[in-house]
Amino acid sequence: MTEDIKSLNQKELETFLCSLGEKPFRAKQIYPWLHVKHVEDFEEMTDISNKLKEKLKESSVLTVLRQVQVQCSKLDGTRKYLFALADGTMVESVLMRYKHGSSVCISSQAGCRMGCRFCASALGGLVRNLTPGEMLDQIYRIQKDLGERVSHVVVMGTGEPLDNYDNFLKFIELLSDEHGLNISQRNITVSTCGIVPRIRELAQEKLQITLALSLHASSQEKRLALMPVAKTYEIHEVIEACDYYFRQTGRRITYEYSLVGGINDSKEDARLLAGLMKGQNCHVNLIPVNPVRERDYAQPDPQAVVNFKKELEKYGINVTIRREMGRDIDGACGQLRKRFMDL
Ligand code: SAH
Repeated sequence: MTEDIKSLNQKELETFLCSLGEKPFRAKQIYPWLHVKHVEDFEEMTDISNKLKEKLKESSVLTVLRQVQVQCSKLDGTRKYLFALADGTMVESVLMRYKHGSSVCISSQAGCRMGCRFCASALGGLVRNLTPGEMLDQIYRIQKDLGERVSHVVVMGTGEPLDNYDNFLKFIELLSDEHGLNISQRNITVSTCGIVPRIRELAQEKLQITLALSLHASSQEKRLALMPVAKTYEIHEVIEACDYYFRQTGRRITYEYSLVGGINDSKEDARLLAGLMKGQNCHVNLIPVNPVRERDYAQPDPQAVVNFKKELEKYGINVTIRREMGRDIDGACGQLRKRFMDL
């Protein structure tokens, strides 16, 4: 069996090296090559003997993504990367620049099986789950490309992270490991379409990551029309699970609400939404829907977005409008990968 060496924590790496007849301390030598220096080849590990390098090459694989394309926004410095995995599968990741630092948005799966109606990633279905190493390497490659440190990570690219739960958890462990990239859990956000049992499980992990819930509707009926996952998990059940996450972790929930013109942007929607949120320590992030060529959902006009925000605020809800980034470079989720695959 070949070991996926970048997906191992330090303890597992130690066990693996012992199985090759090596001393445990080798793990302390090799781990930083993988997770701090982000080497692309075992040959770059200069303090490791040739004999051990050969052993590692025979018994393990080093996951390194290949940059196929990068698009740079002239408007705001956003960079959108298309990477090829070892088997040729494509994933995309986005780098966004803010005053407080740089944030990378990563994919957790190639494709997605959740089928949200407005989402470009849903169109081709799920190809496969990404390994922890493949999730990490999106960030490692981008850091190398930029030559600077990334401070925030959002798991909001293609895929449903809680549908790839074990790999996602290992990814968080490695990403926030003080011997690795050491990104504070408070600077990590995971976005989910609302897989209730997994939200509850995640709450029990007592992590400090932020949970963003893709709500997008003010009632069960409307949510059903946009998100098939609502067939399995009813809207109140989802909100209850988020509240449980808050009570277990103390982390305020973000509800994501993509505004679709004429579908979920009325005054009545705002009133119902505020009712769902009532008494919760949370915050609503409004996102004007990004039109996807294959779907005919329209963006509300900018004034409607502002009105919706004001309406929610009347009910005492914290609201922000998400700044649109990379508008000139296939901003919406899954669009770059989709366009590339259509060629
Ligand atoms: N599966 C996860 C994370 C990936 S999608 C989730 O559902 O949350 C990241 C966010 O982008 C989600 O809130 C998703 O609903 C939203 N999204 C997808 N396509 C979009 C589009 N065309 N316009 C606006 N938001 C979109």
